[in-house]
Amino acid sequence: MHYYTVSCMKQLNVTRITVVLKRDYEGQNCSIARTLELIGERWTMLILRDVFLGVRRFEHFQAELGVARNVLSSRLARLVDEGILEKRRYQERPARYEYRLTEKGIDLWPVLISLVKWGDKHAAASGPPRIIEHRGCGGQVNDHLSCDRCGQPLGARDVMTRPGPGASAVAA
Ligand SMILES: [Zn+2]
Repeated sequence: MHYYTVSCMKQLNVTRITVVLKRDYEGQNCSIARTLELIGERWTMLILRDVFLGVRRFEHFQAELGVARNVLSSRLARLVDEGILEKRRYQERPARYEYRLTEKGIDLWPVLISLVKWGDKHAAASGPPRIIEHRGCGGQVNDHLSCDRCGQPLGARDVMTRPGPGASAVAA
């Protein structure tokens, strides 16, 4: 008597392996929760801060932040996956990449400015570490994201930063 083993060929979908990340705020029907799922991980906002300040390259982020390379790599990959950053090749051999904000990423500018303003008011005992100025005007960003000198509405591309009175304070 012969026994046959009938194996069922399950078709494996290998075209794209998606790592499903555990969600922190599952069940929350809330835009704050959903936003935090994307940008609320440790280091992510500081990476975004640095991108707004002009940092583009992995080594430069690493030097600025002092974060572990695997963490930095994972955060950057997530931001690219979510369409907040775009990874562009700037050198062929060896291949090297830099990270740029997409329009979706640039839309986070008011979020960062709000964090800066809150921190300047409530968490900067020695004064603001960094002053955000209207480029070419010298006015500062007010609570309505306009220039407090000339009144122009401001966006990420309209401002520059300089050290503020709290710049020399020792980082905690
Ligand atoms: Zn101005």
